[in-house]
Amino acid sequence: MSLRTKLLEVATALLPALRTSSKARVISGSAVVLSLVAFGAAGVAPMVPDAADLPVTMVVEELSVPDLNAQIASLSPAAGQFVAEERIRPGDNLSALLDRLGVNDPQAASFIRSDAAARPLLGLRPGRRVQAIIDGDGRLLSAAALLGDGRDDNHRKLVIRRSGAGFAAEQQPVAFDNRVEMRSGEIRSSLFAATDAAQIPDSVATQLVEIFSSDIDFASDLRKGDRFQVVYETAWQDGEMVRTGRVLAAEFTNAGKTLKAVWFGRNGDEGGYFDLQGKALRKAFLKSPLAFSRVTSGFSMRVHPISGQWKQHKGIDFAAPTGTPIRSTGDGSVEFAGNAGGYGNMVVIRHGNLYSTAYAHMSRVAARRGMRVAQGEIVGYVGSTGWSTGPHLHYEFRVNNVALNPNSIVIPHAQSLAGVELQRFRTIASDMGHRFSLMSGEKLQLAAR
Ligand SMILES: [Zn+2]
Repeated sequence: MSLRTKLLEVATALLPALRTSSKARVISGSAVVLSLVAFGAAGVAPMVPDAADLPVTMVVEELSVPDLNAQIASLSPAAGQFVAEERIRPGDNLSALLDRLGVNDPQAASFIRSDAAARPLLGLRPGRRVQAIIDGDGRLLSAAALLGDGRDDNHRKLVIRRSGAGFAAEQQPVAFDNRVEMRSGEIRSSLFAATDAAQIPDSVATQLVEIFSSDIDFASDLRKGDRFQVVYETAWQDGEMVRTGRVLAAEFTNAGKTLKAVWFGRNGDEGGYFDLQGKALRKAFLKSPLAFSRVTSGFSMRVHPISGQWKQHKGIDFAAPTGTPIRSTGDGSVEFAGNAGGYGNMVVIRHGNLYSTAYAHMSRVAARRGMRVAQGEIVGYVGSTGWSTGPHLHYEFRVNNVALNPNSIVIPHAQSLAGVELQRFRTIASDMGHRFSLMSGEKLQLAAR
């Protein structure tokens, strides 16, 4: 049995669990016909003979296919009509676009240039698709494109149709097709290299980091061979992904220890991530005061002599470029903000009676005394003020005003789930657990037997 067949079996097993639409799809000449699953990336050779030989980094993607779509189907080309599709290219203009679409229709071109509803077609950014139906003489019968930048809900579909002796254009609101995608990866050089290889959008990679940031300092804890799996929402329109949504579940194996997270909404959009037992992942304090991002991750995988180490001078020094944002590791209020001699520019935040945190050598302070701050809020930027030999953050975690190594202290968790909520959560968590196990190599072999 080929690998592809095996994967298809798994995918078929997965399908009922996914929210997918079953719209009729018109497949264009060049479109990929494999409409169930596409597999990608992360070092999987498509011709591997036996699933047992596969690396664990297999990626099973859900439904990334429909290339032409319900929309074209609804435009219904008749005999003697042709469907064409093109993407906007950088520096494109209308004549070049119409040429590529095979449209030879000066009347259509001047309508698009002059009609208020049709003109946004000229402003589409590169990569966006334009579909057209033309007759055998290259006359435009209809055209359609999705307007909007993919970042908000303001999406409209532009449809231009031949009407009487001329054309008519209208913009209609669009409905998204929500999907759930699952991907996995293994860290070889950096987190973002791994998420790129698995074709995971940056916004999902960032959520992944945030979800586990109470337990993992992504700037210094990551190891080669760490693995992750992630399930997240996406919104599609006419076969194009227009928005990435929330991570619904994730699993992260760091230095051999696996953490699992499942999103649970408590009141509408309010909610959080919990482990499979319903225990909150969020803790009173983040593990690192530095935000981890594509920009700052450059230094992260390098072993830096002063990165994240507990020092004799009662603090943890984080090496980071000047200007890297510093976050409050917990909710609290600013007790001190200003110059403090050897500490340079410093912010001290009080978290209740017992705890406080201090952030020193800042290039710039972004907090005022007395101000309330939430966990993760930016309070300043990395610098080298005071007694400092180079840009770094000196971080102190204080209990009863005595600096202690936070790695040696058990940090309390946020409130866990109980009662009816816990029951409701268990249903969701077991569904997510099932998906993860289906993605794993062992279950793949079972499915193949
Ligand atoms: Zn220090």
